[in-house]
Amino acid sequence: MVRPPATSGLTCSFCHKSQRDVEKIVAGHEVYICSDCIRLCRDILHEGGPGRASVAWSKDALPTPADIKGFLDQYMIGQHAAKRRIAVAVYNHYKRLQANASDKKGDVEIQKSNVLLIGPTGTGKTLIAQSLARFLDVPFVVADATTLTEAGYVGEDVENMVAALYQAAGQNVERAQRGIIYVDEIDKLARKGPTGSVSRDVSGEGVQQALLKILEGTVASIQSKSKARGAQGDNITVDTTNILFICGGSFEGLPKIIGSRLGKRSVGFQREAASGSARPQPKGTGHDELALLSSVTSEDLTKFGLIPEFMGRLPVMAVLDPLGVDDLVHVLTEPKNSLVKQYQRLLKSEKVKLTFTDDALRAIAEQAIKRRSGARGLRAIMERVMLDVMFDVPSRTDVRSVTITAQTVLGEAPAQYTASAELGGVS
Ligand code: ADP
Repeated sequence: MVRPPATSGLTCSFCHKSQRDVEKIVAGHEVYICSDCIRLCRDILHEGGPGRASVAWSKDALPTPADIKGFLDQYMIGQHAAKRRIAVAVYNHYKRLQANASDKKGDVEIQKSNVLLIGPTGTGKTLIAQSLARFLDVPFVVADATTLTEAGYVGEDVENMVAALYQAAGQNVERAQRGIIYVDEIDKLARKGPTGSVSRDVSGEGVQQALLKILEGTVASIQSKSKARGAQGDNITVDTTNILFICGGSFEGLPKIIGSRLGKRSVGFQREAASGSARPQPKGTGHDELALLSSVTSEDLTKFGLIPEFMGRLPVMAVLDPLGVDDLVHVLTEPKNSLVKQYQRLLKSEKVKLTFTDDALRAIAEQAIKRRSGARGLRAIMERVMLDVMFDVPSRTDVRSVTITAQTVLGEAPAQYTASAELGGVS
């Protein structure tokens, strides 16, 4: 972020020190860098060695929680409470890395804040983790908890996640050690379902046990992939102490546990409180019940089947709200790379202007709500709606604009093609 120079003189755009406090300030186009930051950059470049450079923020240049949230806002609709919580957690995580690195005597060891994300499918759990990694320029992998097994069983060892991160880091151990691992479907490791029935074989708890060490920090031993086929790779050790783990799950059945803890009367109160201004939600989508998630406690999660030691490794908890029709319309249109913008871009390359009527956008959002797949369902619906257009347009040199209406979305009418404003519609 570039701050304007202070009135008393120039300030470094990176550390914000003023001209008076440093030897020199070099000016670029609307940007200034001081001699201290230049030295720091030189050290970073010399440290990195070959391969992709790792990000190493100076104490003052670490992006603030507001910077992090600001970035997430560009790609994610709503979820403000979760974004704020994550922004603080991530800021503290990287601050901790710096503090622990500079406090060599180990006076105060700041503990790691892995994150637990709770929210229905398609509300942006993976997106939040992925966007963070992109913003911070750290390697990132998604692991599926349902494929993980305890050591000694057939399947994926938990160390495989670290091996994948090492690959994502371009086989750079130092870079991998600062990365982010998103573990999806963490709720499927529950010891038992909310009704007391076993929701997965006993190894669900075993995997939670296996994850404990890796989440807290251990030295994982992984095999590097050898270039020669069939040859054994080298044994590499990766310290997981500074890897940020974000675990996510939809936790179906959890609202019932919360509801019964709160008691029936408070459930009614909670519904109103949690929905706040209470945007109207489509009936039968369970949005009211899901609003209870905002009252979740670690005891509820223990009841759900996560073992207390495992919960202890995930001190930061954030709840993602179900997305309503209005939210989904925003998801379709607002993010930097929204689906509507992507299709408009595709058609622009054919010199065709693409427009969706408001009703069309709402009809798409309503279909996604019916599928109960949150924003995840939008792409498949859009692809179906746009198929004919994407098929026709490349061979229709007469078409200048295309309008998608609610009837097009509902399959009741084709998209409206226009040659030009003067010529009117063409079929
Ligand atoms: P989850 O992990 O919660 O199941 P994802 O993060 O994988 O959901 O979301 C699936 C897709 O839906 C994403 O790729 C993104 O395009 C879109 N999406 C989900 N939530 C949001 C949101 N809050 N804002 C914008 N897009 C979203």
